[in-house]
Amino acid sequence: MNCDKIKPLLVGYLDGELDDEQIRRVEEHIAVCRECSAELDEMKRVRKILRKMSEPTMPDAFWQQYWNGIYNRLERQIGWIIFSIGMIVLLSFAAYYLIEDFFLDPKISLLLKFGIGAVILGAIILLVSVFREKMFAIKHERYREVDR
Ligand SMILES: [Zn+2]
Repeated sequence: MNCDKIKPLLVGYLDGELDDEQIRRVEEHIAVCRECSAELDEMKRVRKILRKMSEPTMPDAFWQQYWNGIYNRLERQIGWIIFSIGMIVLLSFAAYYLIEDFFLDPKISLLLKFGIGAVILGAIILLVSVFREKMFAIKHERYREVDR
């Protein structure tokens, strides 16, 4: 049995397409022929790589986590947007009534107006600061996602 007759059978051997007689011939030959045995090993190696490439590269658990992560982030962002809109509406109302009923009321002392005004201004600055920090954190989180 020479190599030229065995080599064409190697692909069929790997694919399990040979009959018993052909399998016996191939196995007998590669047991004694180093060249054909090496060729078979190389073919097996290439097969393995091809199979790995065609497999989904990421396990399902990873994608599950990935989509959960996106969903959670979206949920948090939507939460923040709704919260912000609510705060803006409430603050606008508060500011409107405060100016009309409190600051424009001539019976209330100027010092009290100044005190209340300072507290409100301070609270607004703090709120904006916290909000900006949160926005920065969201942006930062997005970049971290890209890095990964
Ligand atoms: Zn051979």
